[in-house]
Amino acid sequence: MAENQSLDLLVQALRRLPGVGVKSAQRMAFHLLQHDRPGALQLAKALQLATEQVQHCVLCHTFTEHDICTTCSDARRDRSQLCVVENPADQAAMERTGAYKGLYFVLMGKLSPLDDVGPHDIGLQKLFDRIRAPAQGADDAVPEVKEVILATNFTAEGETTAHVIAQALKGSGVQVTRLARGVPVGSELEYVDLGTIAHALVDRR
Ligand code: ZN
Repeated sequence: MAENQSLDLLVQALRRLPGVGVKSAQRMAFHLLQHDRPGALQLAKALQLATEQVQHCVLCHTFTEHDICTTCSDARRDRSQLCVVENPADQAAMERTGAYKGLYFVLMGKLSPLDDVGPHDIGLQKLFDRIRAPAQGADDAVPEVKEVILATNFTAEGETTAHVIAQALKGSGVQVTRLARGVPVGSELEYVDLGTIAHALVDRR
């Protein structure tokens, strides 16, 4: 048995984080063990708790500790509009504009053929099911969602994702709009100023 088996296991575990190679993982492991053991335990406990408690909202796919997240449960939101974003940070950026009162669908990713990320790896089927779902208490076949606003990022992958969703919804009877091009090409919503996002929302087409 190797002398530092526990340390090796820790380095291997840290390497699971995106963008972390062997050297960074070793640095993190050494730091935690040498300088911050309480922090290491806090990290371990937080990871354990989050993996046990956090799940996906059954309606919008975002992270929540309940079956349905607080946004989807909010009766004041306009249920006829569904804004599709890539991740919770983008949703937060849209929320900060205060310009949007509809609901969201959070893909938790984007299509990226080069990285082998296909429709099954992000929540596309769940999105299509959600869009076709009838309003609660309504007669069947009357979908609650009337407009889908594609607010994926203005990067190559975000544009591809928006295009695929728009194609799939052709003929569905749902109006599909895309944020207007006030948002700079190549940019991620999370880092775009709020006024620009708000304008892109108002000018969507
Ligand atoms: Zn939700």
